[in-house]
Amino acid sequence: MENCIFCKIVAGEIPSPRLYEDDKMIVIRDIEPKAKLHYLCIPKTHFALLTEMDEARAEIVKHCFQTIPTLQETLGLQDGYRVIINQGENGGQTVPHLHIHLLGGEKLGDF
Ligand code: AMP
Ligand code: ZN
Repeated sequence: MENCIFCKIVAGEIPSPRLYEDDKMIVIRDIEPKAKLHYLCIPKTHFALLTEMDEARAEIVKHCFQTIPTLQETLGLQDGYRVIINQGENGGQTVPHLHIHLLGGEKLGDF
C-alpha cells in the first residue's frame, strides 16, 4: 500500500530494527514508547481495521497471537504485558495498518 508507513517499514524502505521477523509479521520498537518496553507487532499484509477481516487475514492475526507468547522472554515481557489494538479515530489509531501494541517492562497503570 502506497504511503503506508508500516508497509514501508515492512518493505525496508524506512529503516527500523526488527526484533523478530517471519513470513507473516515483524516486531519493532515503537518510536514513541508509552511504557518502559513498547513494541509493535505488524502483519506484513496491509489492512487497517478488524472490520476488514477475511479468512486469510484472520489466519495472519491468529499467527501473530500464537507467536507473541513465544517471544515474551526475548522481549523482556515475561512478567506480564498489555496487548492493545487501536481501531479508528475514537480508538486513537494513527497508522491505518493493523498492528498490535505490546506494552510492559514495568507495572502499567489503569486505563
Ligand atoms: P496507533 O496510534 O495505534 O495507530 O499506533 C501507531 C504507533 O506507531 C504509535 O505508537 C507511534 O509511536 C508508532 N510509530 C509511528 N511511526 C513509527 C516508526 N517509524 N517506527 C516505530 N513506531 C512508529
Ligand atoms: Zn500498510
